Amino acid sequence: MKIKIFTFNPFGENTYIVYDEITLECMIIDPGCYNQAEENEISAYITAHQLKPVLLVNTHCHIDHIMGNGYISSTYKLPLHLHKDEEQTMQHSSGWGKMYGLEIGLQPTDRIYIDETSTLNVGSYQFKIFFTPGHSIASISFYCKQMNLLFSGDVLFNLGIGRYDLPWGNLETLTQSIKTQLYTLPDETKVFAGHGDSTTIGFEKLNNPYVNLR
Ligand SMILES: [Zn+2]
Repeated sequence: MKIKIFTFNPFGENTYIVYDEITLECMIIDPGCYNQAEENEISAYITAHQLKPVLLVNTHCHIDHIMGNGYISSTYKLPLHLHKDEEQTMQHSSGWGKMYGLEIGLQPTDRIYIDETSTLNVGSYQFKIFFTPGHSIASISFYCKQMNLLFSGDVLFNLGIGRYDLPWGNLETLTQSIKTQLYTLPDETKVFAGHGDSTTIGFEKLNNPYVNLR
């Protein structure tokens, strides 16, 4: 498996392309590309590596994670995979964006709802879904056991956690999500977050100042 990280839009959001090096199938997680230069950058990578986009997924629908949904969906003819309850987050992002002069762009009308009972397949890799609310109403995280890695969206960061002061955010819910879901994963699990550097579950268990294990 190969992982390519782009940091896009004024919020410094991490957009991920995850692919199987043999089949070249790829999944695009939270495309945050918001102008033509960023759209060109992600497409140039896909073309240069001869990737076949098979999945477009959102960990949650805050504005910085969905700005490129429309572009990726229309360019690669992909439906958007998201948690059903994130529809209201998307609606809110749209209103919020208008207020601040940021467009969320045309969102894909073709949507497939996923939850903790779903599995995502990218070539020979499977991703299990964890339901990890608290930063947004229905944030989800993607875990690949074969590679022991996790895409945590804005739930768990390197030495941080997501904001919980946004609509439907809740600190108690967020820390419970981390403790009861993400912290059950092996210590060596590599964590790729929606912002900032990657980390591991073991490092965060020892050092994350926001999640008290005692
Ligand atoms: Zn967010």
